[in-house]
Amino acid sequence: MVEDLILKAEAVRHACGGICCNGACPPLSEERIRIILSYGDFHERIEKVGYHRIKGGKDGLCSMLSEGKCAIHAFKPETCIAGPFTFDLTDHSLRIFLKQEKICPLIAVLKANRAMYDLQFGRAVESIAHLVARLLDDELAIISALPEPDTDQVAELPLPEKAL
Ligand code: SF4
Repeated sequence: MVEDLILKAEAVRHACGGICCNGACPPLSEERIRIILSYGDFHERIEKVGYHRIKGGKDGLCSMLSEGKCAIHAFKPETCIAGPFTFDLTDHSLRIFLKQEKICPLIAVLKANRAMYDLQFGRAVESIAHLVARLLDDELAIISALPEPDTDQVAELPLPEKAL
């Protein structure tokens, strides 16, 4: 059952060709960088701009996107696993947002299927908490200040405990 829902969500993602990968520049923890580099020489596609992230390409698409597919799909960054949910932080909470339907075809599917929504929401919170626990406060402040247009807040949760 759970596997079926995950496969259905992944099928929608594959079919869309990576619309949300446009301008994504997902943030990376040191842990995630080690994992990505253990699978190949992706050094040129990682940059530091106050925090580490995947570089954008000249066309604005994520540099890991190739012919509509993610080159690091099996070990992609936490915010990519979390999509179409995203986040920011306040002093005392982790706020979870859902992108609007015009951005991602998966959102209509999630809204029409409560079990799928709950499953992806749970995966998103787990992935985001994993990332947040592994980033420095300075890095999180920069990331939280980035604009996230066309999103709606869907939850406010306690801050994850640091793993650093
Ligand atoms: S890492 Fe992969 S899933 Fe994430 S934005 Fe880039 S291409 Fe898309």
